Amino acid sequence: MIIAFIGLGNMGGGMAANLVKAGHTVRAFDLAPAALERAAVSGCATFTSAREAVDGAEAVVSMLPNGTIVRAVYTADVFGTAPAGALLLDCSTIDVATARDVADTAAAAGYAMLDAPVSGGIGGANAGTLTFMVGGTPEGFAQAEPILKAMGKAVIHAGAPGAGQAAKICNNMILGGTMIATCEAFALAEKLGLDLQTFYDISSVSSGQSWSMTSYCPVPGVGPQSPADNGYQGGFAAALMLKDLKLALEAGAATGTPLAIGTRAAELYTAFAESGHGNTDFSGIIETLR
Ligand code: NAD
Repeated sequence: MIIAFIGLGNMGGGMAANLVKAGHTVRAFDLAPAALERAAVSGCATFTSAREAVDGAEAVVSMLPNGTIVRAVYTADVFGTAPAGALLLDCSTIDVATARDVADTAAAAGYAMLDAPVSGGIGGANAGTLTFMVGGTPEGFAQAEPILKAMGKAVIHAGAPGAGQAAKICNNMILGGTMIATCEAFALAEKLGLDLQTFYDISSVSSGQSWSMTSYCPVPGVGPQSPADNGYQGGFAAALMLKDLKLALEAGAATGTPLAIGTRAAELYTAFAESGHGNTDFSGIIETLR
């Protein structure tokens, strides 16, 4: 299949490479020359504008920083330029309202567009083991599934347009909240004189267990290998966690949903990022507590 790929950064670079490995012809565009060079090494054909990349494409995949950019790229460069009937897949994490709006505009222009944000981070993007949560029509999902499967281990239809983004921000709000709760519990356990490996052995098989504890333990040397064992480098940057929490708060305000824990988590990650830790893994917030 001929697939245009727009936005080949930390995530998109690996995802596009996996589409090439699956036998697709990938037409790549990114504003950053370094990203395009990496895409060329992975076997993508590179172009100097999004319009050229989408010309003749049967599907378009995008992995861009935010909703403003997604709207601008699709409106200016994809709608009316990509062939009629091309399948449009935005894998960026963006706000639900923009995702729905851009999908509506796409439908009016004759394209099936799906929001397909991911979980799994840069490691998952490179390894082709992402989880895709997809919003769009059942027909669009059926067309998208084989393309997304080339980049991920799980592809789940979440519902109508915007439902993928809704699932993503709700999931990541749980993640931010449980990470902070887990960090606080380890900090308190330590101050109460508990050995932290012993506390892990207890809590990881008790009701305090969560992914933040057993897959991504914030204490170095405890639990599985995690960014804590690498000085909180790599992993999921605190700035990206904060981005997702802010999207959840925006959706909470729009729907009148009280989000006390989500709000507090966003405040704590704002302070953490502003103290120079925007690029630190989000589990590194434990260092502000210990
Ligand atoms: P990134 O900054 O590394 O990559 C974004 C790329 O988009 C960059 O290469 C940039 O040059 C390019 N770009 C920006 N504006 C453009 C435009 N107008 N036209 C073409 N290219 C443009 O970011 P990333 O970490 O790859 O994240 C991409 C998306 O994936 C974000 O929405 C992010 O929230 C989401 N996400 C990231 C992670 C992660 O762990 N990094 C995990 C899940 C989801």
